[in-house]
Order: sequence, then C-alpha cells, then structure tokens
Amino acid sequence: MSATENVHLHEINKFGSQAERWWDKNGEFKTLHDVNPLRISFIQQFIQLQEQKIVDVGCGGGILTEGLAKKGAIMLGIDLSEDLIDIADLHGLESGVDAHYKKISAEALAEAEPASFDHVVCMEMLEHVPDPGSIIAACAKMVKPGGYVFFSTLNRKPKAYLLAIVAAEHILKMLPAGTHDYKTFIKPSELSQSARDAGLELRGMTGIQYNPLTQAFSLGDDIDINYIAAFQRPE
Ligand code: SAH
Repeated sequence: MSATENVHLHEINKFGSQAERWWDKNGEFKTLHDVNPLRISFIQQFIQLQEQKIVDVGCGGGILTEGLAKKGAIMLGIDLSEDLIDIADLHGLESGVDAHYKKISAEALAEAEPASFDHVVCMEMLEHVPDPGSIIAACAKMVKPGGYVFFSTLNRKPKAYLLAIVAAEHILKMLPAGTHDYKTFIKPSELSQSARDAGLELRGMTGIQYNPLTQAFSLGDDIDINYIAAFQRPE
C-alpha cells in the first residue's frame, strides 16, 4: 500500500483486528447489524435493487453488501482491510448470499471502472479516511449517469460527541472505545458541498436515531448525530 493512498493504516488495522467478531449480532458491531434494515429501507425509497449493479465502498465484513444482495442487487464490496475481505468472503460462503469482494481503494476502482455501477453505497466510512472528499469524488466517478450514491456518517456537532462517543462508546458500550474521533465527523453541509463539487445532486437526507429506553434505532428528522444521504449523478 503506498504512503500516498487516502487511508489511515491504523483505521484499517483497528477494524481488521475485530474482523472475526464482525458477524456476531450481539458483539462489537451490533450497531451496524441493528441499523442495517433502516439503511436498506432508506436506499429503497430512491431506487429499486433487483438486478442493479452496486458497489459497497468500505464494506467491512459485508453486512450491508449481503443485505442488498439478498434484495436482488448484484453486489461488489470493496475495502482495504484484507482481514475483513476474507471474513466477508467466508460469510458469503456460509450464508449462501452471492456477493463479490475485492481489496482495492475507491480511487483505484473509479480509475479502472468509471461510470460502471448503477449505484454506489458508502456507509460509516468517510469519517475514517484522511480525505473524505477524494472518496466522494471516486464514488461519483464510479456511478453511471442517472445513478445514486448513498453516504452515511456522523455529524460534527457537540451532541454527536456526547451521544456517539461519550454515551455509545463509554457509558452504554455499544461500540468499542476509540471507534470514533470527533474531529473527523462531517457536517451535512460539508458532505453536500463535497458531493456538489463531485457533480452529484442531493436528493434526500435523514437522521438515524437511537432510543436508549427501547434500544431501537429509527429514521427521523434529527440529523445532529448519525445521518444518511442520497445523491444522484445527473443524466
Ligand atoms: N460500511 C460498513 C463498514 C463500516 S466500518 C458498514 O457500514 O457496515 C468502516 C470500514 O471502512 C472498515 O471496514 C474499514 O476497513 C473501512 N475503511 C477505512 N478506510 C478505508 C479506505 N481508505 N478504503 C476502503 N475502506 C476503508
């Protein structure tokens, strides 16, 4: 991996070291399992999935990749963690869900296969890279004209610090301590600006909320913490 690539190796190693527990629905990545149906339903508000060629950028162990494949999408998951790509492949064999995985950066895939995916998804990943704008531009380059690009990330607001880091990592222990770094959180205005710079148009944005009493996630108007957005590459 070259030093000039848009990647924090400590992030790749951090996620990779937890690879074996990725699919434990009550383990460290429970939150990703819990929000998965919500993000799929958000995506389905904009596109139909059947037979659509979709790339999942920063796919980890493949939770969203498999979820979309089960709905009929033709999935490719990419990530820079070899351990996670292995876990994703292995899980696909066990579950019988047909999805392909490759260790390649978003930028390299965009260069090799521009305008070749019907849609692109990139969830909970932008806050882990040095230059999120470069990932957003790569996603815009990969998608076909008319296709959608979906992102989710954390908002750089004090409320997100309190809830996504203090509460989720330290009090409720929903995520391993050190999962997130407040400085890297991205405001919706910044995400929208980078997407616009990449030629994408905003089509919708929704908050992902957690209710500690019911321990349930829901989609809603509050985008102050975790949020998900849909953009489209114009025809
Ligand atoms: N998108 C998945 C996993 C989110 S965890 C989901 O929401 O279910 C963040 C993932 O981003 C990890 O798998 C990590 O290895 C990956 N990642 C971090 N930096 C990356 C980069 N520069 N290129 C590709 N993947 C990266």
